[in-house]
Amino acid sequence: MLKANNPNLQSWIAVSKDSDFPIQNLPFGVFQTAYKQPSVATIIGDTVVDLAALAAGGIFDTIEMDTTVFSEQYINRFMALGKSTTRAVRDLLSTVLQKGNTTIAGNSQLMAKSLYSIKEVEMLLPVKVGDYTDFYSSREHATNVGAMFRDPNNALLPNWLHLPVGYHGRASSIIVSGTPVRRPKGQQKPKENGVPIFGPCQRLDFELEMAFIVGKSTTLGDSITTDKAEDYIFGVTLFNDWSARDIQKWEYVPLGPFLGKSFASTIAPWVVTLDALEPFRTAGYDQDPAVLPYLKYEGDCNYDIQLQVGIQPEGSNEKIVCESNFKHLYWTMNQQLAHHTINGCNVNVGDMCASGTISGPTQDSYGSMLEISWNGTKSVEMLDGTQRQFIADGDTVIMRGWGEAAGVRIGFGSCEGKILPAN
Ligand code: MN
Repeated sequence: MLKANNPNLQSWIAVSKDSDFPIQNLPFGVFQTAYKQPSVATIIGDTVVDLAALAAGGIFDTIEMDTTVFSEQYINRFMALGKSTTRAVRDLLSTVLQKGNTTIAGNSQLMAKSLYSIKEVEMLLPVKVGDYTDFYSSREHATNVGAMFRDPNNALLPNWLHLPVGYHGRASSIIVSGTPVRRPKGQQKPKENGVPIFGPCQRLDFELEMAFIVGKSTTLGDSITTDKAEDYIFGVTLFNDWSARDIQKWEYVPLGPFLGKSFASTIAPWVVTLDALEPFRTAGYDQDPAVLPYLKYEGDCNYDIQLQVGIQPEGSNEKIVCESNFKHLYWTMNQQLAHHTINGCNVNVGDMCASGTISGPTQDSYGSMLEISWNGTKSVEMLDGTQRQFIADGDTVIMRGWGEAAGVRIGFGSCEGKILPAN
């Protein structure tokens, strides 16, 4: 067990029982206040810990590292230091934030400079995303979509069980939780035999996904093997791949998703390290037919992380519409990265790879409104009595994720976005 994951550890900073951020988590994010430039931070309970302030106080002096990486608007330079250094930082934070340790707790000046209530800060987009890739790795989701639009008896396309299907997405419109999302406009063809029209999307959807962030670059021409993939994955965050289903349906042939996806994708503000997720490792799916040798892997490479989506209409309370799990992925992250680079495509620090919609086997675990409403043929009732087939203006979509083991809950915070009417 990694020492920072010890379930017996407690912090001198208060952590409520249902918090996503006990001392065993220590995710990384970036924050600012009205009086302070952005800096890299971690969080315990509801307390944001400014790592630039800790660096100025000499806390990281025992680690050979460039601590200017903490005085940045993104965690990219920090990730690029490599896992041995970022792991040493997490270990040190675990030590100095532990109950009984007085390095910070006994230094009231340093405490005043480095600790903030989450309520008094603004969380920023933590990663400068270079390239963004979206996979399509949940068998249940791919089967549901295939059954809806093609043939229920041949729902999966012939390639699906042989490779992790994906496409290159848009990085510029990846935004942090809390940023409103403007309903997109675009071309649609509502009637099968009609003409295309232009207007606000009528079928706005969420996609419940997780995304991993690349923390180590490769050289063009090189490939990453499945057994080395975890060296290249810094951590994971919640990811809402907002989708305009009507725009997508009309535009996607033959080259795949474009404007139906690129208007926005929302991520949670905290990147949880793969190290913190160790206790939640679980077996992947039995893959039949057998995969080609470059996609084979050993060990438990899926993660048992509960996922949840709620919709909160304006002026009403939140209704939970989906309970899923990160383990419902047929293709694991290490297979995704091995496949991504098998042709020699290079990856860079800050690249982001989303999982694809994570749907489970039951109707209450479907990770998109497309599936929940079965292509608009069923409705979900909100707590205010209004019905939803897709997302309405004023709705806030909220995603959460957390694992629980040995009485410790490791969570991802929330990934939220409110829909504003089209311009
Ligand atoms: Mn997607």
